[in-house]
Amino acid sequence: MIATARRMNASGLNQGTSGNLSQRVEDGFLLTPTGMDYDTLEPEDLVLMRWDGSHEGKRAPSSEWRIHRDLLARRPEVGAVLHAHSMFCTTLACLRRGIPSFHYMVTSAGGEDIRCAPYATFGTEELSHHAVEALEGRKACLLANHGMLAMGKNLAGAFKLAVEVETLAAMYWRALQVGEPVLLDAAEMARVIEKFKTYGQQPEPKG
Ligand SMILES: [Zn+2]
Repeated sequence: MIATARRMNASGLNQGTSGNLSQRVEDGFLLTPTGMDYDTLEPEDLVLMRWDGSHEGKRAPSSEWRIHRDLLARRPEVGAVLHAHSMFCTTLACLRRGIPSFHYMVTSAGGEDIRCAPYATFGTEELSHHAVEALEGRKACLLANHGMLAMGKNLAGAFKLAVEVETLAAMYWRALQVGEPVLLDAAEMARVIEKFKTYGQQPEPKG
């Protein structure tokens, strides 16, 4: 988990100490602590959270613990959740623009688009509610005027998707500088989703 947190720094997904990461464990989940530099993170700094919001460990949990708790509780197929204020996802989120079907790889987040959840103050139940809705049938979303979320079966899967979504956000942003990108229609996006199912993507990396 700490290795993935540090990869968030190295990959540029993290801006300062704004990112956070969770992983499902028995009877709850492990979450990164609030406001700590990942370079100095030790295993005992991770916070063990229970489903009722109580926690164990010497550190206070990330202020976005509700989002992690609500997503892991509602989505049994998800084993890890990653949150970041990555540059291009957050740029689009500040325009309150999601990522439409401008590229077939948008389907890597589970559907024909990547939604932008409405704004709510960080750390609130309202924000968590918006995130859960924006992630309906999806594995990633943007958060208006805030950042992004990506989920996976495990940490490696969530990290891989976060990098993919940040790359798509950067491409979409660049295309917008030149004009209005041509969007693929719903039938084509459905075909791509089907093709990925039939031919099979590489399984999510272990870890
Ligand atoms: Zn945040």
